[in-house]
Amino acid sequence: MAGKLPKEQVLDIFRETKALLEGHFQLTSGLHSSQYFQCARVLQYPKYLHLFAGEIANHFEYSDVEVVVSPAIGGVVVGTEVGRMLRVRSMFTERKDGKMELRRGFELHPGERVLVVEDVVTTGGSVFEVVELVNKAGAKLAGVGYIVDRSNGKLKFDAKHFSVLQLDVVAYKPEECPLCKQGGEAIKPGSRGNY
Ligand code: ZN
Repeated sequence: MAGKLPKEQVLDIFRETKALLEGHFQLTSGLHSSQYFQCARVLQYPKYLHLFAGEIANHFEYSDVEVVVSPAIGGVVVGTEVGRMLRVRSMFTERKDGKMELRRGFELHPGERVLVVEDVVTTGGSVFEVVELVNKAGAKLAGVGYIVDRSNGKLKFDAKHFSVLQLDVVAYKPEECPLCKQGGEAIKPGSRGNY
């Protein structure tokens, strides 16, 4: 299910904050795209963090959420804000030797109702790993909330799930890229932002 904010308004905010860039990019996957999206860029602004976290918090207001869990690093900022708005604990998972874990003394209790929050979901890998931790602890999955769904509508969870925006990924193999065919060169946006 998607949010109440009009799609165009969300896209305008993404463009204004340069979270969404339009041009000709080489993605981490090696594929080419006319769009590049970096969610952290929009969440650096408190008003937008508040706006998007608020959409998620509102959606799960009556889901009896007792704790928010987010996968680090991407989910931490939005998860913390959602937890603050729902007035519940928020914690995060992180990887150790590639394995997702609750560390730093964070604990889930049996029966506790957990909302998993992430910034961007593409394959859902990290979210599924967090859900596994929730199940292992004997806690209950109350829902999954994220700002951007990049799964092109493919993602399904065994719980109520919500995204503020569905932003389909349009990507091409380099040899099939229409932008390359027009004579352009793909830019590799670095994680340092030196695109
Ligand atoms: Zn290209």
